[in-house]
Amino acid sequence: MITACNKPTNPLIDQPDTPYGVPAFDQVKLEHYEPAFEEAIRRNRLEIEAIATNPDEPTFENTIAALDRSGKLLDRVEGVFFNVLEADGNDEMQAIAERVTAQVTAFGDEIMLNEQLFARIKAVYEQRENLNLNAEEMRLTEETYRTFAINGADLPADKKERLKEINQELSQLSLKFGNNVVEETNHCQIFITDEAELKGLPTGAKQAAAEEAEAAGHPGEWLFMPKRTSFTPVLQYCENRELRKQLLLAYTTRGNHNNEFDNKEIIRRTMQLRIEKANLFGFTRPADYILQESMAKTPEAAYECLKAVWEPSVRKAKEEAAELQKLMDAEGKGEKLEPWDWWFYTEKLRAAKYDLDEEQLKPYFQLENVRKGVFDVAKQLYGLNFEPLNNMPVYNKEVEVFKVTDADGSFIGIYYTDYFPRAGKRPGAWMNDISHQYVEDGVNHRPVIVNVGNFNRPTSDKPALLSMDDVETLFHEFGHALHGFLSQCTYKSLAGTNTPRDFVEFPSQVMENWCYEPEVMKTYAFHYQTGEVIPDSLIEKIQRTRTFNKGFVETELLCASILDMDYHVLTNADSLDVDKFEAESMQKMGMIPEIIVRYRSTFFNHIFTTGYEAGYYSYTWSAVLDADCFHAFKETGNLFDQRVATSLRKNILERGNTQDCAELYRNFRGKEANPEFLLERLGMK
Ligand SMILES: [Zn+2]
Repeated sequence: MITACNKPTNPLIDQPDTPYGVPAFDQVKLEHYEPAFEEAIRRNRLEIEAIATNPDEPTFENTIAALDRSGKLLDRVEGVFFNVLEADGNDEMQAIAERVTAQVTAFGDEIMLNEQLFARIKAVYEQRENLNLNAEEMRLTEETYRTFAINGADLPADKKERLKEINQELSQLSLKFGNNVVEETNHCQIFITDEAELKGLPTGAKQAAAEEAEAAGHPGEWLFMPKRTSFTPVLQYCENRELRKQLLLAYTTRGNHNNEFDNKEIIRRTMQLRIEKANLFGFTRPADYILQESMAKTPEAAYECLKAVWEPSVRKAKEEAAELQKLMDAEGKGEKLEPWDWWFYTEKLRAAKYDLDEEQLKPYFQLENVRKGVFDVAKQLYGLNFEPLNNMPVYNKEVEVFKVTDADGSFIGIYYTDYFPRAGKRPGAWMNDISHQYVEDGVNHRPVIVNVGNFNRPTSDKPALLSMDDVETLFHEFGHALHGFLSQCTYKSLAGTNTPRDFVEFPSQVMENWCYEPEVMKTYAFHYQTGEVIPDSLIEKIQRTRTFNKGFVETELLCASILDMDYHVLTNADSLDVDKFEAESMQKMGMIPEIIVRYRSTFFNHIFTTGYEAGYYSYTWSAVLDADCFHAFKETGNLFDQRVATSLRKNILERGNTQDCAELYRNFRGKEANPEFLLERLGMK
């Protein structure tokens, strides 16, 4: 008999022996992905079938826990694929992504619509009070039931049918909305032919505009478009007031030109359908249906949080406006401050007031030192150690790997950092858990987590040097990583960062606070040439600029959050007039005319395409939590107070989503978060 001993293996399916069981990134080839997805879905389908058709009575163990434990291969394949796609992708991976995303989505729907499976989940859910479940098992039961219910599993057949139609129409509308924004952005091209019109614009921005023009077939000219990368430098530095106005208005009227790309009717129809969908589930307003899974839970709670910050923000913005107007008056042109002047005079004011140049700071922020700085913060707070590992399998040679251990030496997880831009990496910075923490059969499986960034790479004569914003970003993403690493949950769907969206940014944002503390700065900011620690005078300047222009920033952001929520507490949108509705929303809040809402309705992608509807308030909500949490340290006079740090770790960072997040926070702090501390940080108190 001949045995097939040379059958080629797929390192995604048959995990090779690697240190700490990390994915065999170095062995994975493009052709492995699709067969791995197919096999993973096949296996998961068998697992689901076995749960759904189990002849035994449904129990927590054979239904809820079994469902949580299923799909491990799919998790692993997704963890590897999507990480590499975003950090080191290419056109072929993009094409694979389109195919596998469709498969994975369809498979997800198949599970949600599996009636036999849901009948068992519901049976366990209904007896949950009599099953002697511990708190985490109870939470898993409730969350599993809720996930299915929110997706319509518990609706009667006719409503289920209608839900399907609504979802289909909504997804078409959302696609069309997003495409319209893209079209309206790309179709608006403003060519400048006379360089004199660009007075004040920095050379780099001018060069980028010249390259854009060349690519668009207008060599020797400069092209500007209503997208942030193109118009921000113009708004900040270009003396040509007419061009500033033209660009800002082009940006803020996208999707609102009564042409084929107009989004107003799409918004009206979307809101009509969202209301009908909420009604199917017994809610009158979309926000009530959407916020069920959030920490805030009701739109009223979200409004209350926003309004607590709104009043002081507008007051500060008015002061800022007066200061800018003074600058304009001094120029003697008799002009009144308009939205297209704000950025321009703000930069002048910044230069006059603070005389702080990014280039002055960068030599002190060498990437390796900043990373070591954040490791030290984690050590002082939680006793964690980070040890570099060599010769680990990586997907790109620039990726560095660390072994994370606890104060007692026990293993916490594996940490990858991937900090430099490259073709194939999407912009921005993020944390990704390649594999999650969970406990099964008494074994605590530890996570594998990556932080990805797009920081300046080293050059032949300089190491990688960061800006202050980059330093903040590095600390922020590390905060997400800690939330994943410190997880001590049993069930993977409740572990780590699997928390509601108005909570998930809190553990990351809170880490940013440490990077600005003079005491911490002196542990990571050394001049890369002289080794000199950052001087107090620079630290002081950084501290003072932290509150600069915050009235504008907050007003712009809060106004968008309120507009979002105003849409989602509508109970009828049949005759919704978008322009009028938006104007009324602004007026009701007392928005000032010198600032335009950060996202006007017709290009508010967050709430009409990317699934952040009734969710834009989350940024402010998380900020209130993070400022309050950091204040708990400050109150003790010790940034690393062990009692507070241990409480934060035990009550929040270890707990994932195993308990209502509002309760988790109260357990940590002993009370609700107080927005006053955010106001203090923003310089509004
Ligand atoms: Zn984040």
